[in-house]
Amino acid sequence: MLHWSDDVVSLLEERGGEHVIATGTSISGRPQIGNASDVIRGDCIRKAALESGLKAELIWISDDSDPFRKVPAGMEGLDDYLGFPVKDLPDLDGCHSNFVDHFAQPFIQDLSEFGVKPKVHSGTDLYRNGELVEEIRTAFEKRVEIRDILNRFRRDPLPEDYLPWTPICEKCGKISTTKVFGVDGLKADYECVSTGVSGGEVEGCGHKGVSDASKGMGKLPWRVEWAARWRRFKVTCEPFGKDHAAAGGSYETSKIISEEVFDWTPPVPLVYEFFTLNGEKISSSKGNVITLADWLVIAEPEVLKYFMYKRLMKQRDINLSLLSNLTDEYDEAERIYHKRQEGDMGLARMYDLAQVGEPKYLNVPFTLCAVLAQVAFEGEYSSKAESMGYAGFDVERLNRRVRLAGNWVQKYGPDHLRFTLNSEGEAGRERDSLSDSERKCLEEIVGLLDGDWSSEEFHKKIYEVARSNGVKPPKLFKAIYRVLIGNDRGPKAAAFMLSLGREHIVARFRGG
Ligand SMILES: [Zn+2]
Ligand SMILES: [Zn+2]
Repeated sequence: MLHWSDDVVSLLEERGGEHVIATGTSISGRPQIGNASDVIRGDCIRKAALESGLKAELIWISDDSDPFRKVPAGMEGLDDYLGFPVKDLPDLDGCHSNFVDHFAQPFIQDLSEFGVKPKVHSGTDLYRNGELVEEIRTAFEKRVEIRDILNRFRRDPLPEDYLPWTPICEKCGKISTTKVFGVDGLKADYECVSTGVSGGEVEGCGHKGVSDASKGMGKLPWRVEWAARWRRFKVTCEPFGKDHAAAGGSYETSKIISEEVFDWTPPVPLVYEFFTLNGEKISSSKGNVITLADWLVIAEPEVLKYFMYKRLMKQRDINLSLLSNLTDEYDEAERIYHKRQEGDMGLARMYDLAQVGEPKYLNVPFTLCAVLAQVAFEGEYSSKAESMGYAGFDVERLNRRVRLAGNWVQKYGPDHLRFTLNSEGEAGRERDSLSDSERKCLEEIVGLLDGDWSSEEFHKKIYEVARSNGVKPPKLFKAIYRVLIGNDRGPKAAAFMLSLGREHIVARFRGG
């Protein structure tokens, strides 16, 4: 098989029927790029399944029924909400109806820019709208079986009277403080008592009440909830990070609950390794984080999808200062897909799956686009790229990539790709400090500018000029950068000079 999604699809074919691929994100603040891992990969399976003639749908559930355990930095206005279901937190900025929508809605909006448009659900609303009532009833009826299954994976066994239900206190609204002590049908007796969460102590209000689970004001514990959702939505496939997949982890437990309690064949799992950002763990508290929206300012959505569609069980890193390496890989796959180059058809398959719209050929390197952004106006990009030997590209894609690469180079790009062009006066002063033979080289390069060179051919010519004048090529390159940008290093010289154009070079290399 060319790609892992094709392997998953053949498992789904064996399983038969219609397919639902489930994904989800727990909302404790602004979702970051890693939180999109399962939904972007789930969409890949949906796409591959549809291509194979299967019926398939992608769903996304915001995990918003858990208690709010820790106040993120900068959100001190939520101090009083520790222990509440996340869904019941207010939007501090006041622009959405609650905390979850404030973060989930932009995330879903950004995903659509990646061509990923799942059917969206709120985990809390599933309870409150009665959509899980059948599964809750089953969980209450089979609470002994559930306890025994959970106990297989626990060191401290759950008590005899265990009930898989955490009520929300009807008096104070908290969920982390309720203790169940009796049950009658779907009605659970509880008391609201003080407890600790990772972010501090949560005071119980002392209320004693009855939680009618059919009303959905509470939640099932995660491993039961996960299996209940599979049953409710008839989920046949779910991607998740390897933390859930560990022996005795939540997938292993939920799988048994799904089979033995809910009588549903558990979904085909798609387990992936987490990726790092700039060589470190992604962490909002340490500031090592970007969002999908941040990505869309510096690179094409297809490039991130391509990255996520690589082999799953390998630890990978996105280094933003080296983003051009990833776009170069993507461009190679593009050449193979568009039959401009022989190569691994698996790469072409990943390229195809990563497309948001119709695949359009570009193949103008990202670093060159970063240069163009600094030396030309939008109307000039395509003629400049053509003058360097690039052909058959989509102009809209080029304009977009130049815009993105221009943003990237200012924010994350390496120093040598960021520059300010010398005025003619500045160039003259730099020229004066060169050796005679270096100046002669520049003069000869001016003579070459009338030729119709590709960047590669021009690059070779510069070497020839250096050697024939007894100048070491690195010295000549340095001279070129000094005169053009007043620096010792710069973008690849041949392409750089071609992008600046003859007139600009003549005025700097020769003077008035
Ligand atoms: Zn808002
Ligand atoms: Zn209470």
